[in-house]
Amino acid sequence: QLVLVTGVTGFIGAHVAVSLLKQGYRVRGTVRSMEKANELVRLNPELKGKIEFVIVKDVMEPNAFKDVVKDCDYICHIASPFIVTNITDNKAQLLDPAVQGTLSALEAAVTEPKVKRVVITSSFAAVGDFTKDPYNGYTYTEKDWNPITYEEAVKTDNGIVAYCASKVFAEKAAHNFVKEKQPHFDIAAVNPPYVFGPPIHPMNSMDSLNTSNQILWNVINGSKLQPSTQHLEVDVRDIADAHVVALKRSELSNGRLLVSQGSFFTNTMSNVFLKQFPEKKDLISEPSEVPFNSKHYTIDNSLSKSLGMKYYSEEQTYIDTAAKLWERAKEF
Ligand code: NDP
Repeated sequence: QLVLVTGVTGFIGAHVAVSLLKQGYRVRGTVRSMEKANELVRLNPELKGKIEFVIVKDVMEPNAFKDVVKDCDYICHIASPFIVTNITDNKAQLLDPAVQGTLSALEAAVTEPKVKRVVITSSFAAVGDFTKDPYNGYTYTEKDWNPITYEEAVKTDNGIVAYCASKVFAEKAAHNFVKEKQPHFDIAAVNPPYVFGPPIHPMNSMDSLNTSNQILWNVINGSKLQPSTQHLEVDVRDIADAHVVALKRSELSNGRLLVSQGSFFTNTMSNVFLKQFPEKKDLISEPSEVPFNSKHYTIDNSLSKSLGMKYYSEEQTYIDTAAKLWERAKEF
């Protein structure tokens, strides 16, 4: 069965392709340039000849995916701008591409009778209420929505808030599309929080790391910064598997799937790295004085576990990520 993966040269997209291939699916991946596709294969020679690459230069183009959806049984729509800095126009840079890209993927699916489900890579950003005190002990479930309004999203000068809003309105647009148009397929959203894990996709520099891996990189890049960031985490390889679960399971028809192995704290990262890589101690930040706060909000991942998902241990995630980041840093 053939799956269209949008944004296959991104951090998550590349891993989704790997998981799908491992489980016997065929993959057609959209890329913005063939150079990037070639770079993905150069970095991962085992992918040679395994992915059919097609060019979609910009998800904002009218009918962006119409010509590439032919014969696809499923779509994993992952391509979306993930930027939180240098934003001068929230609508043009974040909200429109996220929403329009999602609608384009769904409109393309309408034209291909074989499509059974469209999996939308949403985010915990579409779930959490970030106006609340993070140390309120709340447990989020698939029923929760980030309550930001469109007006607030357009006006905010906080890039993170605008990015989160782009995920809210893209996911809402997908659910509304299905309700209004009653197409021949259904959808399922995957909602990850901060994603860590080995980057296997093309990158321009270590500064182009995704926001979450940047947090981990700051603990091991010799800057000796002592961040005290605490949030929810998931391994990119688990997120990739979650996309396969979301594509298959009838329980997720027009639903959402929260995926997280639990809370992370940068001090735990420091301790894991200092123990595992004593020879690199000059590069590794010492833990900060700030204590872990057990009242930080969390999520209920029981739905994902009931669907058979297993999670990497956080130690394994950190160790594998650090090893790959040090290896990738040699490229630049
Ligand atoms: P990346 O930036 O690595 O990947 C984004 C992908 O989308 C890239 O392939 C990028 O292409 C493509 N893309 C972005 N904008 C456009 C556009 N206008 N037209 C065509 N393609 C576009 O980010 P991630 O892999 O981390 O994120 C992938 C998805 O996962 C996003 O939807 C993001 O919101 C979501 N997510 C990520 C989390 C994380 O912590 N990483 C957490 C929760 C959700 P190119 O590489 O050519 O720029």
